[in-house]
Amino acid sequence: MTQRLDGRVAVITGAGSGIGLATARRFAAEGAKVVCVDLDPETGAKAANEVGGLFIQADVTDEAAVRDLFQRAVDEYGRLDITFNNAGISPPDDDSILTTGLEAWKRVQEVNLTSVYLCCKYAIPHMQRQGKGSIINTASFVAVMGAATSQISYSASKGGVLAMSRELGVQFAREGIRVNALCPGPVNTPLLQELFAKDPERAARRLVHIPLGRFAEPEEIAAAVAFLASDDSSFMTANTFLVDGGISGA
Ligand code: NAD
Repeated sequence: MTQRLDGRVAVITGAGSGIGLATARRFAAEGAKVVCVDLDPETGAKAANEVGGLFIQADVTDEAAVRDLFQRAVDEYGRLDITFNNAGISPPDDDSILTTGLEAWKRVQEVNLTSVYLCCKYAIPHMQRQGKGSIINTASFVAVMGAATSQISYSASKGGVLAMSRELGVQFAREGIRVNALCPGPVNTPLLQELFAKDPERAARRLVHIPLGRFAEPEEIAAAVAFLASDDSSFMTANTFLVDGGISGA
């Protein structure tokens, strides 16, 4: 595999599973030193061990923990080139405006949106010192279109990620820091499998709307993240990067 990320240092949140894990593998295969961050000590440590990287157990909604994790990454590897802010949770079982409770709403905003605010806040100063960096924030296709299934708190959180990424991309472009939002379509990961296990018909309803006729594999999303992390995307920032099997174009 081409070594586009040779010598680069990358932090990945939610690296223990799904898209984060596939990206940790991809980044390592392309030569990066990977810092795997996850709330789950077992899966996170396993991922770090597999890719020969550093594991940091952290809750990305905890400001002190987020500040410390970026400092630890820089202390360990001397720099910070890439941050993939990817940790997230699925919507509550019934995520309709009429039924989603305020606490459930707040929790989704905290994990999916506030975490991205915190990770950008504490990653950017390290990148400013280098005059270069690439930040990729995981949004979703539901940030750009209404979903066939009701996902009010989840869609709102991902729309926030999109707007924040655009704003930061514009704000820090002249400092050499690129910020892009990644919008996956439905991806075959534990997050999606849990949703479909609770509501099997949801999978069929979703599939109908995907022109490519299938869900993505995490590795297909990881390939897009590696592109956004690398200099191959050097003229891209403040961008909404859809990897959705055509769902938003249909
Ligand atoms: P996943 O559940 O397989 O992995 C998420 C990881 O994040 C887990 O390892 C989990 O432990 C970790 N995590 C959760 N809360 C955390 C916290 N507070 N602090 C630290 N780590 C935490 O999910 P996935 O499908 O790989 O999703 C990754 C991202 O992609 C999420 O932001 C999700 O919303 C987004 N996304 C997923 C899909 C999909 O269909 N799977 C589609 C679009 C967007």
